[in-house]
Amino acid sequence: MLVHVIRGLRRFALCSCAMLLSLLLVQLPAYVRSECAEAGHKTQIPKDTTSAQAQSWFSVHKVADRVWRIDDHGGDNVYLVEGDDAALLIDAGTGVADLLTCVQSLTALPVILVNTHGHPDHSGGDFQFPEVYAHPAEFDAITAFCSMQVHLDAIERSQQESPELAHVLLDPPDSITIPVLLPIREGFVFNLGGRRLEVLETPGHTRGSVCLLDSANGLLFTGDNNNTVAWLFLEECTPLEQYHQALQRLKKRSGEFTVLLPGHGDPLDAGFIDEQIACAQSILSEACTGEPYKTFVDYARSCTYKRSTIAFNPEKLHIAR
Ligand SMILES: [Zn+2]
Repeated sequence: MLVHVIRGLRRFALCSCAMLLSLLLVQLPAYVRSECAEAGHKTQIPKDTTSAQAQSWFSVHKVADRVWRIDDHGGDNVYLVEGDDAALLIDAGTGVADLLTCVQSLTALPVILVNTHGHPDHSGGDFQFPEVYAHPAEFDAITAFCSMQVHLDAIERSQQESPELAHVLLDPPDSITIPVLLPIREGFVFNLGGRRLEVLETPGHTRGSVCLLDSANGLLFTGDNNNTVAWLFLEECTPLEQYHQALQRLKKRSGEFTVLLPGHGDPLDAGFIDEQIACAQSILSEACTGEPYKTFVDYARSCTYKRSTIAFNPEKLHIAR
């Protein structure tokens, strides 16, 4: 089972990176950071981004006051959120480049790491940190992916996909140490000093997926829960009905946030959740039976409502009763 999951998720990471890289090439941001440093000092490179990309794996964008989106070369988003006393690092990316040094160039505060879920494009860089907070339902996945073989495979893939950046990839370490796993559940609060982020459980994409709510600043960090293309067909996904329920719970809190900061892609407005709920409802009611969704499994289908696409397993729609 575990081997199957690992193989599936390796393919997942590969497909996800390729898909999102192609999206990035279409939606290249207005500026690309030449180094991982504070956004206010960014280098504007509007015409030719090639030379800038050749210098850095990460590109950093300030998305709110004391909040940075660290783009993991198109594969995923990592977020850094500063309070007065500490900074929260939300996810750790694929782990193929030196995220720790990048983060330390942005903040001098102590850094707390949290994983929104255990997939390797979100937990791959955990090994650079002594401890990581996550939902206990993700502990097995985080542990399984925190291995030398997974790390070496990720670096090799990155070398093949981005040979021009081979020089900025991490050298293989002598060993990989699994960080101390610290549990979080619904209502847990990260108090950063003058800034609080609350954990909201959002099972669906994985059983232990969480979002992080900074209600004072109207921000919701959503992991893979609110991507424009949400993957609900993986073996570790919950039935779609459970995901639909999680979206409805989020909707009840929507007076507390205006911006969604997803694990993949650009920020979205909070109204996007309505479109996801409508999309999930259309699948559950079978008003939409979907189109074949081309991926590494042959059973996935997808439905789209406005900006929201959900790829799902038609055999796993309803909660068993
Ligand atoms: Zn994921």
